[in-house]
Amino acid sequence: MSFDASEQSQIPETGNKPPIVAVSIDDVRGAVASARSGAAIQVGFVPTMGSFHEGHLSLMRSASSECDFVVVSVFVNPIQFGAGEDFDSYPRDFDQDIRLAADQGVDLVFAPRSAVMYPPGNETRIDVGSIDNALCGKNRPGHFQGVATVVAKFFNIIGPDLAYFGQKDAQQVAVIRKLALDLDFDVEIRVCPIVREKDGLAMSSRNSYLTTEDREQATALYRALTSAREAVARGETSAKKIKRLMKRTMGEHFKVEYEYARIVDPMTMAPVDIIEGKVLVAVAAQVGKTRLIDNMFLMPGEEECGE
Ligand code: AMP
Repeated sequence: MSFDASEQSQIPETGNKPPIVAVSIDDVRGAVASARSGAAIQVGFVPTMGSFHEGHLSLMRSASSECDFVVVSVFVNPIQFGAGEDFDSYPRDFDQDIRLAADQGVDLVFAPRSAVMYPPGNETRIDVGSIDNALCGKNRPGHFQGVATVVAKFFNIIGPDLAYFGQKDAQQVAVIRKLALDLDFDVEIRVCPIVREKDGLAMSSRNSYLTTEDREQATALYRALTSAREAVARGETSAKKIKRLMKRTMGEHFKVEYEYARIVDPMTMAPVDIIEGKVLVAVAAQVGKTRLIDNMFLMPGEEECGE
């Protein structure tokens, strides 16, 4: 299921008190321990790279509604960026992020420097296994190892009861679920629906890179997913035919450089040939200088299916 951000009313100024801002691991541990002291509370955690948009805020609101103490990390994680990717230019707006986090009732923002997370000599990394061979894993070697490693470190530092992730990054969700299962993290993983712009473009911090022309062309990804949805609703079950259709739809946009259109099992990310049950349809493309991803769950006989 996905929903349109425009359906949401503008977020009111709540007058919530600003979150505690911690930059050291000890300070985070201290703040969480004091929140927990003497009370059986639920601690919620929302990992982010900052530069908040409505997608991030929806995760924080879910956490605030379910948890007594909400921790948000703001950390542009260097080890999940490959050489030549946008680590240096990644959008950062910390003051605005703190204001928005306060409005969502966030209690603590953890914003460590890279040297706090990865001091000299820090070299242990998590191999995520076969899931790395699917979707973005192939084109971004080391990306999911970097994601799994930083999330595992945050889980160890914060010790959340619940952790919130966006369906926007479907493979990341699968990686984190597997990480929690395989490494016995005692945390419940919550997945929140994709928040979209009015024209269907999935919100992303990277959308700020798009020029006006790119922005128009960027709807190609959602259009491709929609064309897949319509084909499945018509009874098409051949993944090959639907992938071809999605590629063709993206190809109608001159600034869109197709990367992939895949149909996979939502849990394992293994390719599906014949659509018989719930599948994840995922696309990636370069629009101008910006790499974008998007996805949708589909199920034969249903318009679109949720989690
Ligand atoms: P990021 O800051 O891009 O690493 O994203 C932090 C979290 O927000 C991740 O769990 C993302 O999947 C989630 N997220 C990003 N964009 C969206 C969106 N449009 N809708 C829902 N969740 C999102």
